[in-house]
Amino acid sequence: MLLVVAFAAPGLGSGQTVERDWLDAGFEKAEVRRVPAAELAAPTGEKIEYTLPVSFIRLAGSNWTHARVMRHVSRTVRIFAACGIGLGPVEIIEAQAPDGRHDLDMEIPSGQPAPEDVVKFSAMAPASALRPPVYFVGRLLNDEALARSFRRGDVSVQEATGFAYLDTSWVAFKTHWMERKDDEYSTVAHELAHLLCECGHERSREPHLLNRYRNFLSSHIQPETCERMRKSPLLEPLPIQATPPAK
Ligand SMILES: [Zn+2]
Repeated sequence: MLLVVAFAAPGLGSGQTVERDWLDAGFEKAEVRRVPAAELAAPTGEKIEYTLPVSFIRLAGSNWTHARVMRHVSRTVRIFAACGIGLGPVEIIEAQAPDGRHDLDMEIPSGQPAPEDVVKFSAMAPASALRPPVYFVGRLLNDEALARSFRRGDVSVQEATGFAYLDTSWVAFKTHWMERKDDEYSTVAHELAHLLCECGHERSREPHLLNRYRNFLSSHIQPETCERMRKSPLLEPLPIQATPPAK
């Protein structure tokens, strides 16, 4: 049984993009798919009070497929439901970057706040795109991490509001086949949790979503993290909640 949450359009920003928007922003090809609300339905019994709009941008040539991205989307829905947070609206965009680039250089030039590729690709999300954007890339070059996020709380208020790369996440293809002890864990949920809680990792003996140690990453979110996530300005309060009919 699924709890189907209906998203009302007003108040959620424009958020619906078309191919043209992504081409105008600098991509060579783009295919936009809106994920139906039914596919973002939270598990039964969870009371969803907020929703997170997201653009998932799959760089062509990265090996990420629509189905592989959807697997992370579904896991993230199940993980965030424990905090009363849903996903939606969600767009998945297959975008071909200039020169077919899909491996991004994550080295931060000295004196710069972020990698050049991150600055460049962040600016290529059109103004009408759902935020935050999550980029599914091939490899993150010059980076030991499998994924990165650029979140508020790490930087000054001016920087937090003035730069396109803030509130962005970057996920390498390697995360797709990295084995985890917890099958329900998702790197995408981990990265989005960083953006929402504006917090880093936590060292703990209990496995959880933002554990500092890879072997202790799990689909469980600590209640304190939930509390912080629920205060994020990236979330929209849910205007309508439909409960399933009694059977
Ligand atoms: Zn992390």
